[in-house]
Amino acid sequence: MQRYEGRVAVITGAGSGIGKATALRLASEGGTVVAVDLDRDAGEAVAKETGGLYIAADVTDEEAVKAAFAEVKEVYGRVDVAFNNAGISPPDDDSILDTGIEAWRKVQEVNLTSVYLCCKYALPYMREQGKGAIVNTASFVATMGAATSQISYTASKGGVLAMSRELGVQFARDGVRVNALSPGPVNTPLLKELFAKDPERAQRRLVHVPFGRFAEPEEIASAVAFLASDDASFITASNFLVDGGISGAYVTPL
Ligand code: NAD
Repeated sequence: MQRYEGRVAVITGAGSGIGKATALRLASEGGTVVAVDLDRDAGEAVAKETGGLYIAADVTDEEAVKAAFAEVKEVYGRVDVAFNNAGISPPDDDSILDTGIEAWRKVQEVNLTSVYLCCKYALPYMREQGKGAIVNTASFVATMGAATSQISYTASKGGVLAMSRELGVQFARDGVRVNALSPGPVNTPLLKELFAKDPERAQRRLVHVPFGRFAEPEEIASAVAFLASDDASFITASNFLVDGGISGAYVTPL
């Protein structure tokens, strides 16, 4: 499949995990990929692998985000896809009883404000083209509650989900589709750092996954490749769950 031939896709958090797998997937389908990441080494490595561009930007910085999309427009003349995916899940974001205001704010900035900024500065180019696809990474925790709380993370992803729905509705007649991607737990550095390397903490979660395993980043990337392509031309304002059945499960197989 060459669904991205002639298309330019901007991916934030492209240096690692889901973002990196998606960068490789879109490039393999003929796309030009712009990798945006804080981590220069990781971002440059992905740009090299995909033959695209690396832009160093902190997605919480309004001027940096504005400049990044302007640079993409200047270099390639278009912005077809924005995969607003950079996010964090730090250990000091925990139960509401223990999470301080600074930890709360940091997660809101990186996970939610960044999506607001990326949409704000991608949309004008897409509207001008009369076409575009935005995919914002939320999470299944925007849809389901967890007793193993990360309160700011969950609230930030709820915000991403609601914002994506609203933008999808508002800009549909401009030819711009906006969807929230809600992955279940994925085997990435973010998840490994958090709990996957501890078998007991991993099992506490795996029992709720019908497949009995975490997703691989490539399985999320293939969903993004669909959602941001013309194959998904009638899908907008959706909560696109790629969660291994978690949100549909009551009792899982033994
Ligand atoms: P990851 O830690 O592997 O990669 C995140 C990337 O984002 C890193 O390269 C990092 O340098 C970059 N980044 C972080 N802060 C940034 C900033 N301020 N500006 C620019 N770049 C920044 O993470 P991942 O697991 O691939 O997660 C990607 C997205 O998927 C996140 O939004 C995360 O919340 C979401 N998600 C992950 C899982 C999971 O289980 N891994 C599940 C659901 C949703």
